[in-house]
Amino acid sequence: MPGTQINCSFTPEAEGVTTFALKLIDPEIQQRYRWEPGQFNMVYIPGYGEAAISMSSDVASSNGLVIHTIRHVGNVTYAASRLKVGDMVGLRGPFGTYWPLEAMQGMDIVIACGGIGLPPLRGAIYSIIQNRANYGKVTLLYGARTPKDLMYPNEYDTWKQADIDIQVTVDRGDDLWTGRIGVVPMYFYHFRVDPHKTAIMACGPEIMMRFVIYEALARRIPSDHIYVSMERNMKCGQGFCGHCQLGPFFICKDGPVFPFSRLEPFFNVEEF
Ligand SMILES: Cc1cc2nc3c(=O)[nH]c(=O)nc-3n(C[C@H](O)[C@H](O)[C@H](O)COP(=O)(O)OP(=O)(O)OC[C@H]3O[C@@H](n4cnc5c(N)ncnc54)[C@H](O)[C@@H]3O)c2cc1C
Repeated sequence: MPGTQINCSFTPEAEGVTTFALKLIDPEIQQRYRWEPGQFNMVYIPGYGEAAISMSSDVASSNGLVIHTIRHVGNVTYAASRLKVGDMVGLRGPFGTYWPLEAMQGMDIVIACGGIGLPPLRGAIYSIIQNRANYGKVTLLYGARTPKDLMYPNEYDTWKQADIDIQVTVDRGDDLWTGRIGVVPMYFYHFRVDPHKTAIMACGPEIMMRFVIYEALARRIPSDHIYVSMERNMKCGQGFCGHCQLGPFFICKDGPVFPFSRLEPFFNVEEF
């Protein structure tokens, strides 16, 4: 929906990260707007340009709002950090593939994510919670640089109550931190997986995803049960410009969510 304009409100989420609740202005578009966890919008900040940003909310209870959690890293995303309630931005989307939650029914699920990799999985977590009986054991492995960088900490208790095993780890603790220190893939050493009925969803820094994939394959989880969400610099978002090409794929159109079995031959190709 090119050029859709929105109002926005926002919540500081963590150091340098804000969650925006965007209200689509046109009631007809608001009514028609549908998306799935894992998909993204191109968010346009007037005068600065566009950035690809994933939906970060629960599909069922978003109440006509589009929720995006944005880390302020560059031109467009810093401009987003200066937005005020009532400012207008543009949206194109939703684009891309999504987490195959239906295909994972009946399986144990490991959600492995780092840093800003949690927002694109948050909607999937809520979908699983709403259909909790359809899944086996669900484990969330989440890593952040420091305790202050953890996203949505107030929601972890709700997720635990829905029988999600949450394993949080940080690179560096602080005086109050009593939890784990280390990296996400390490946690594969701490639990057993049944390779025939386990699916993985991974999102975060590429180095983290590589090690998660390595640990999953070492435990004989089939590569078509390992799903990754890929990031590349995006421009058009619709498979025309080639900015986000990875091997024969355009991440914007063929991804961002891929079964690793499709990416395997191209995963080492550098972004250019
Ligand atoms: C499918 C998809 C979903 C995304 N979802 C989110 C999200 O939910 N929240 C969020 O905060 N970000 C998300 N991103 C990342 C976001 O699109 C980039 O951070 C954004 O392009 C930065 O734009 P900018 O103009 O602010 O930064 P720029 O000024 O373009 O760049 C700032 C710095 O970040 C680097 N950079 C820019 N984009 C990328 C990238 N995609 N991968 C690696 N390095 C990059 C640049 O090399 C530069 O060093 C997503 C990206 C993709 C492809």
